[in-house]
Amino acid sequence: MLEPNIKSTDLKLTQNSYYAASANEQPEYPTLTTDIEADICVVGGGFAGLSSAIELTDRGYKVVVLEANHIGFGASGRNGGQLIAGLACEQDVIESALGFQAAKQVWEMSLEALDLVRERIKRFNIDCDLTDGFLGVSVSEAKGKKLHAWFEGMVKNYQYDADAKWIEPAYLKDWIASPRYFNGYFDKRGGHIHPLNYCLGLAKGAAGLGVKIFQHSAVTAMQQGENTVLTTSKGKVTAQFVVLAGNMYLPEIAPQLAPSLAKRIMPVGTYIIATEPIPAKLAKQLIPKNTAVCDTNFVLDYFRFSGQKPDEGPRMIYGGRVSYSAMTPHHLTQSMQARMAETFPQLKNTKVEYTWGGFVDITMNRAPDFGSIAPNIFYLQGFSGHGVALTGLAGKLVAETICGQAERLDVFAKIKHHDFPGGKLLRTPALVLGMLWYQLRDKLG
Ligand SMILES: Cc1cc2nc3c(=O)[nH]c(=O)nc-3n(C[C@H](O)[C@H](O)[C@H](O)COP(=O)(O)OP(=O)(O)OC[C@H]3O[C@@H](n4cnc5c(N)ncnc54)[C@H](O)[C@@H]3O)c2cc1C
Repeated sequence: MLEPNIKSTDLKLTQNSYYAASANEQPEYPTLTTDIEADICVVGGGFAGLSSAIELTDRGYKVVVLEANHIGFGASGRNGGQLIAGLACEQDVIESALGFQAAKQVWEMSLEALDLVRERIKRFNIDCDLTDGFLGVSVSEAKGKKLHAWFEGMVKNYQYDADAKWIEPAYLKDWIASPRYFNGYFDKRGGHIHPLNYCLGLAKGAAGLGVKIFQHSAVTAMQQGENTVLTTSKGKVTAQFVVLAGNMYLPEIAPQLAPSLAKRIMPVGTYIIATEPIPAKLAKQLIPKNTAVCDTNFVLDYFRFSGQKPDEGPRMIYGGRVSYSAMTPHHLTQSMQARMAETFPQLKNTKVEYTWGGFVDITMNRAPDFGSIAPNIFYLQGFSGHGVALTGLAGKLVAETICGQAERLDVFAKIKHHDFPGGKLLRTPALVLGMLWYQLRDKLG
């Protein structure tokens, strides 16, 4: 059965996720069936919406979360689970947009986001396989040189060596047993988690604080005013403030809600496979420090091992491939399995048990897009595939702003975002062409 409300062609795929198969038990949240009032109404039950709800409740507000499907339905319940410093774009994009001092503030906030994930896991006692450590790797000598230059720049300008260390080619084998990679760096503040269990844990934590969560309650209309009225099929919420955290689903579910936001993001499909459990000894040979790993290609591969049960080894969770047309690539499982075997020939005969996908909400410059469309209506979008940690901070920034401290959200809000060119019909072909160029560059590099 396809998920309700969503028109994208490939949602069948989301049914076969390893995360869904290994989800922790969770309370059943009701559907909104009456008219209620709240201080704040959050639209979207993913990381960004739940983080906003937690932070606002901590500051004394009465908060309602409306989720069209179920908690963790969107990117938050399907992603690679990698905790990564920084943004999806390079720091120089932010430096050009805001100047060096503000770019430095943005970088520091991205590190705060990593701490916040760990704080929340501890605070709400979330069982989500938190593992420390992130490894960034290059796929060729030419790309290795660029990666090294980038790392040196980050050390010089952002004192990145406080958290990260450079790995020369001769030592890379101590970190990863793969013939594909040339050199890399290790970031001790990065890491990985089971994202759906983290998301379910945040929801449970939020509900414990008094946040009212409603599932299967899609907001289809929003009447703006001093108090805003949000309408679902069976009820309404009247709230003083609204936080829109619907990712790329928002324009699909309710195109008329915030049309100006929709033009600034494009959904890009990305896919993940999970293997059968493999022996713990083999896993330790492949990624000895059990880090999350990501290569530096524009169309990148990202992978890690799952948590492991006492009676079985971990699974390889391998992500990559993209679709710019919202269509599922052909022979997806086979092509991803082949990709994984190129990276780890040792897994050539390992069975793939799960394949799923999701959409990332990319912006033109890959910087996140936070701000407001009215004095009392805020939005958080455009994480561009780099939102596991940053969404948490984004929720905190919205809460600070609603409490009258807008400085930190304003830093992000000053980043200029452009509409994707071409109307709805032309945007996708234009993006496909642009991305083919980057894929070609990946191959040549
Ligand atoms: C396959 C994949 C792999 C990724 N890997 C990584 C990774 O390893 N590391 C990383 O940092 N980032 C990664 N990302 C990105 C990261 O997952 C996202 O940036 C993050 O989860 C976005 O969270 P969100 O809360 O903004 O959106 P979502 O989690 O998508 O939540 C939005 C929710 O809003 C709901 N909604 C929308 N409209 C309405 C409406 N009108 N009414 C009610 N509800 C509505 C939707 O149903 C949805 O549940 C990945 C993403 C994908 C898809």
